[in-house]
Amino acid sequence: MSDTTDAFRSELRAWLKDNLGPELRSENLAQLADGERVALLRRWQARLAQDRWVAITWPRAYGGRDASIAEQIAYVEEMSQAGAPPAINGLGIGIVGPPIIAFGTEEQKREFAPKILSAEHIWCCGFSEPGAGSDLASLRTQALLEGDEFVVTGQKVWTSLAQHADWCMVFCRTDPESKRRQGVSVLLVDMKSPGITVRPLRQINGQAEFNEVFFEDVRVPRRNLLGELHNGWQIVTSALQNERGIMYVVEMQIALKRQRDEIVRLIRNDERARRDPLTRQKLANLYLGVETFRSTCQRILVKLLRAGMPGPEASIIKLHWTKLTQTMPTVSMSAIGPFAQIYDPPQPGERSDPAQWVQASYLGAPAASIASGTTEIMKGIIAMQVLGLPR
Ligand SMILES: Cc1cc2nc3c(=O)[nH]c(=O)nc-3n(C[C@H](O)[C@H](O)[C@H](O)COP(=O)(O)OP(=O)(O)OC[C@H]3O[C@@H](n4cnc5c(N)ncnc54)[C@H](O)[C@@H]3O)c2cc1C
Repeated sequence: MSDTTDAFRSELRAWLKDNLGPELRSENLAQLADGERVALLRRWQARLAQDRWVAITWPRAYGGRDASIAEQIAYVEEMSQAGAPPAINGLGIGIVGPPIIAFGTEEQKREFAPKILSAEHIWCCGFSEPGAGSDLASLRTQALLEGDEFVVTGQKVWTSLAQHADWCMVFCRTDPESKRRQGVSVLLVDMKSPGITVRPLRQINGQAEFNEVFFEDVRVPRRNLLGELHNGWQIVTSALQNERGIMYVVEMQIALKRQRDEIVRLIRNDERARRDPLTRQKLANLYLGVETFRSTCQRILVKLLRAGMPGPEASIIKLHWTKLTQTMPTVSMSAIGPFAQIYDPPQPGERSDPAQWVQASYLGAPAASIASGTTEIMKGIIAMQVLGLPR
């Protein structure tokens, strides 16, 4: 690492020492009611933004730091080491902000970028619809221009954070005669607009992480069109590419290692599980799986540092991450046995218990093979684009 990266790392470490309070530790956040937690995380992000410690990859002109690859790696490592919570407006920073900076008018950049950084505006992303998920080009939500306004009608689904969001980036069909990738545009929609209904989807783990969002004759000013009318597909592509960057790779390996270490601790503390040869074997496999995953991530990062481009390994890490994310809770679940079944999800104010996180991660794991590209779609990409197999 260079002197510049060392200086960056030291500056961030010192800043975190001065600013990261105990109330932001995950175990304390877990005890807050949803609304209180979101309010606290908004304040935390605003504090980070004041000193340019959010969206470090953004250009300096819009509040970022133009961070190098090495600085991005250092950032994730230091934030994780300090136990800093993820930014509440992660979708705004990672998915919405970059296309606004790349395709927006100067007025849009000035209006939205600072509020994304400070979390004054929390954003959600309206891509998926009941009939358009993996195949996003089938989207049917319509936005028809009437004078100076679009009138939006349709439905989105799986919209993460919509229940807290102030704004939504909505992909819609502005030319009703068009098919597939033609005639699609991107609108920046105020979630307080009349005609929007958000209906949370309660998951098996008791949480409501995502929502259905209904648009009934919602009026959106024409100035909130991002990029060119009917020509929004390039923004779709750019927004989805931003979903997985360097920081995502570093975050995944840190998170998996942390989860594995928790499981090792759990099993060490349990006399029966510790002595069970099958559990020990599963744990050994898990250990190796996480180490292999980390090596692949390191290979990607080294290639990025040297050549600026990831190699084909980048395509397999989503699949490998999914497998590990889904295997880990089955190992911890079988290790703690029937106790894993008797706990309800933690309530606000309640102390967390190992059985609760084991159960929560077990019930949350199926989502890993769907979010950010399903397993089948990733296999298709690897088969055709990496291995060159026929369709
Ligand atoms: C945790 C989480 C958060 C999410 N957050 C958001 C969000 O904030 N905003 C948003 O818009 N969306 C969000 N999504 C939605 C996500 O992008 C979609 O679920 C995903 O694109 C899959 O779409 P689908 O659910 O409609 O499944 P479908 O596309 O209908 O797929 C159903 C099944 O068919 C398979 N399949 C589909 N096409 C093919 C093919 N060509 N070849 C082989 N198999 C195929 C799939 O792999 C899958 O198993 C989120 C999803 C999750 C799990």
